[in-house]
Amino acid sequence: MKLSVYAYGHPILRKKCEEVTKDNPELASFIADMWETMYHTYGIGLAAPQVGKAIRVFVVDTEQLNDDEDEKDNFIGIKRVLINPVKVQEAGTPWAYEEGCLSIPEIRGKVTRQPQLRIQFYDENFNFHDEVFDGMNARVIQHEYDHIEGILFTDHLTALKKQLLKKKMEKIRKGDISPKYKMVFGPK
Ligand code: ZN
Repeated sequence: MKLSVYAYGHPILRKKCEEVTKDNPELASFIADMWETMYHTYGIGLAAPQVGKAIRVFVVDTEQLNDDEDEKDNFIGIKRVLINPVKVQEAGTPWAYEEGCLSIPEIRGKVTRQPQLRIQFYDENFNFHDEVFDGMNARVIQHEYDHIEGILFTDHLTALKKQLLKKKMEKIRKGDISPKYKMVFGPK
């Protein structure tokens, strides 16, 4: 595992991340390390601040869900690098789904999001894209987009659910857990 995952409670996860410039010589190897780290931790998405860089980059691979029995038969996943993404529009009737996050291990909670997303972004070659995603693909992008804005999925939970998770979340914040992968915790 090339990079460590920054845990809930680390201040980097609350930063509004900076745009990336095209001539960044370290970007390609950083993205390669993000892929490696995401697969190592069995994630379907990973945002740069989760591995210690407050920049507007994330990777998504929902192709891993193509054979998932939980998903509809016609689900087609996506594999994308999104750089400097800008949400153009979200639409449709909000739907709830249990999300998790590599930065908040062992915690899951229902988050309500709109099912259609139009987003503009640059790929790893700095080609511009304007694309529409839906369902689970949109959800994973929305979750990762939140990360580069300093937002975590737990922020979206109901007050009751937040209260129920409070002790577990505190344990993560304090580093009082035994994660299955390398993590960096915030100041105590
Ligand atoms: Zn996350």
